[in-house]
Amino acid sequence: MNLLSVSHLCVNFHIKKQELVALIDISFTLNRGERIAIVGESGAGKSILGFSIVNLIGKPGYIKSGSIKLENKELSTMNLRQLQEVRGKRIAMIFQDPMMTLNPVITIGDQLVETIRSHTNISYKDARSIAIEKLHHVQIASPEKRFDQYPHELSGGMRQRVIIASVLLLNPDIIIADEPTTALDVTIQAEILQLLLAICRDNGVALILISHDLGVVSKVAERTLVMYAGHIVEEGPTLEIINDPQHPYTQGLLNALPQMTLPGQRLNQIQGSMPSLAERPSGCAFHPRCPYATQKCRQEQPRFIYSGVSSVACFLVEDMLNECAEHDQEAM
Ligand code: SF4
Repeated sequence: MNLLSVSHLCVNFHIKKQELVALIDISFTLNRGERIAIVGESGAGKSILGFSIVNLIGKPGYIKSGSIKLENKELSTMNLRQLQEVRGKRIAMIFQDPMMTLNPVITIGDQLVETIRSHTNISYKDARSIAIEKLHHVQIASPEKRFDQYPHELSGGMRQRVIIASVLLLNPDIIIADEPTTALDVTIQAEILQLLLAICRDNGVALILISHDLGVVSKVAERTLVMYAGHIVEEGPTLEIINDPQHPYTQGLLNALPQMTLPGQRLNQIQGSMPSLAERPSGCAFHPRCPYATQKCRQEQPRFIYSGVSSVACFLVEDMLNECAEHDQEAM
């Protein structure tokens, strides 16, 4: 059985009597210990998907249809008390800004101890030992000293390590990390990614990494889902997506990586910008930015089809596959 199964998930926002569609027919699975990434530009729907999994979509957003199952438990219809059992204990979230999670007026140590004691009956002294051991585990130097410090006394990288330590306290099955390194310096980014990777591997924790950066994703995730305007447009093994992207949007994301540009050259960019929820184009939502768009792309929505190793929603790929199949038949 899959650890997590998202099936045909649709999320809408009801704003000023308008129904705005944020996620359309999203389906994917996650196995125990597996690491997947959700990639796309800002506004693609990645974070909404992350929040939807733990049913944290606040009004005016709501899950319109579809299913989110953690093993055999349906999350989308759980009440608040049931969800609180799942959040943190089974599915934990790490955000871009650790200050979204840390309380600025309580010491790091007391916040960790509070997390432990709210789920167990152990003494403050024992909880303190566990908290210090977890700080040590996430490679925080002098954990006893850090225990008594406030969040503002720590660097951004160290605060993110504290968040990872707090997530570890409850031994979750899944960590959803939403742009966990975007606010950090490049060298610290690499350290935090390595730490997340090691922790997931060592503890058999599954990871959903949400990122705009295919370069970051390539270092961590085994499988990648590329999102555009609320759709998954390509899904497959990360190596395949990086080495042989099929969808024009994925190709554009890869071309836009700084490492794809020679020194002194202008960075490659995908022309145009992500449409807002209120301005979703007809047909394939990527058509206004796609160099291969045809009349059909402007009118019809491509199906999600399996192209050998990856799955892709694009008429160009579909036509190529059909041509190959015809050639094969003629050759027989
Ligand atoms: Fe481009 Fe058409 Fe493919 Fe959309 S369906 S990505 S517009 S070629």
